[in-house]
Amino acid sequence: MNPCMRCGACCALFRVSFDCHETDNFRGGVVPFHLVFALNGTRSAMKGTEKRPIRCAALIGIIGMSVHCAIYDRRPTTCRQFLSAGENNTFNPLCDRARATYGLMPLSNF
Ligand code: SF4
Ligand code: SF4
Repeated sequence: MNPCMRCGACCALFRVSFDCHETDNFRGGVVPFHLVFALNGTRSAMKGTEKRPIRCAALIGIIGMSVHCAIYDRRPTTCRQFLSAGENNTFNPLCDRARATYGLMPLSNF
């Protein structure tokens, strides 16, 4: 089972920003515009990640138990590139840090 399905910590710890052209009000964009706010002229971010406590507006479920992304197929590049620690031998200390914030065990084998 994908460990992210029982985690969600990174979706509730970091600001999730990305190129503003990834939203669906631009041709080729997929991220739902209504779930996004403008950071500046070139960057947007997921609503809910601009204020504390941080929690992405697309995150469904209970962190550390059972979660999913409501826009999984339309999530921004930032999320697609954020691999869980250890996935494909990935070194991702931010994953472990997010998990630790929510009292979850690290996934790294390093
Ligand atoms: S913190 Fe790591 S394990 Fe948890 S949802 Fe994010 S990538 Fe997945
Ligand atoms: S868009 Fe989905 S994967 Fe990205 S931070 Fe929000 S809930 Fe997590």
